[in-house]
Amino acid sequence: KLYNQLQDLKGNIRVYCRVRPFLPGKVSSSSSVAGTEDRTITVMTPSKHAKDARKSFTFNRVFGPLATQEEVFADMQPLIRSVLDGYNVCIFAYGQTGSGKTFTMSGPKVLTEEGLGINYRSLNDLFDIQAQRKDTICYEISVQMIEIYNEQVRDLLHNGPNKKLEIRNSSQKGIAVPDANIVPVASTSDVIDLMNLGQKNRAVCSTAMNDRSSRSHSCVTVHVQGRDLTSGTVLRGCMHLVDLAGSERVDKSEVVGDRLKEAQHINKSLAALGDVIASLAQKNAHVPYRNSKLTQLLQDSLGGQAKTLMFIHIAPEPDAVGESISTLKFAERVA
Ligand code: ADP
Ligand code: MG
Repeated sequence: KLYNQLQDLKGNIRVYCRVRPFLPGKVSSSSSVAGTEDRTITVMTPSKHAKDARKSFTFNRVFGPLATQEEVFADMQPLIRSVLDGYNVCIFAYGQTGSGKTFTMSGPKVLTEEGLGINYRSLNDLFDIQAQRKDTICYEISVQMIEIYNEQVRDLLHNGPNKKLEIRNSSQKGIAVPDANIVPVASTSDVIDLMNLGQKNRAVCSTAMNDRSSRSHSCVTVHVQGRDLTSGTVLRGCMHLVDLAGSERVDKSEVVGDRLKEAQHINKSLAALGDVIASLAQKNAHVPYRNSKLTQLLQDSLGGQAKTLMFIHIAPEPDAVGESISTLKFAERVA
């Protein structure tokens, strides 16, 4: 009961946590994670004092290393479906590089049916409901895919030169990136083609600057418009599926030049996101959306009636414990 009351106070913000399994061939006898339960994760701490050697954190849901993509998706299905009822939804994957963000959102590098991540599963699910309701509601579903790198927005669904894009705010369309390609989708194969194009465009940038994907935010935006065939009423909703840049702290004494600039942009934008969600959770009157491109872009999908899921990721390796704790503290602040 207390839990429900807390949820009411905190509105539409939820926090999930997922622990990645050890990678094949790298199984270790010790782990930075002492255990997981439905809603609790316990991590080892670097403390020398036995009494604070473990620390527990509680969230709306915790997935252990054995959780499947299907189980993870099943838990968030109601949230995802609410976009068909006109809600705006934001799902963020947060965590250090290598903790499993891209696995959760897209899947493993070599995709299999069971491996399909939230991006694919949610669109498939929307198509299923679109088909079920086709006699009463006509849904149009379309997708944009952009990347934010060093506070610059770029299209991932372009076929020509990759120009810098502007975020615009119009009374008609709200906050949008009107110049990013927007592609209607109607089937799983449409979605796979689009995701492949997006990944190809991201990879092109990566070879030039070596694994840029961990240092940029990528955002798949699903726009849904539903027209009631009897009344003619139109409902619009949109869902942002965001694979955030790696949250690891870089040692300022070790990086210089472009790396330092990247690191500063990432720190600034993740901090801005944390500040926005924390001030929404605390129901502050002023929400500081203007402090980063990411929060500007998502402004009308964060707060108000919008639904937010912060999905944090934890790597189990013992040397990840410092980052795991800062990830858990970040989430504790917004939960
Ligand atoms: P990130 O996007 O946070 O940098 P990745 O999603 O690329 O991390 O994950 C790092 C590696 O771990 C990849 O090889 C990925 O396939 C694997 N991996 C991540 N999460 C899982 C999981 N839940 N089950 C199996 N393998 C995973
Ligand atoms: Mg990734």
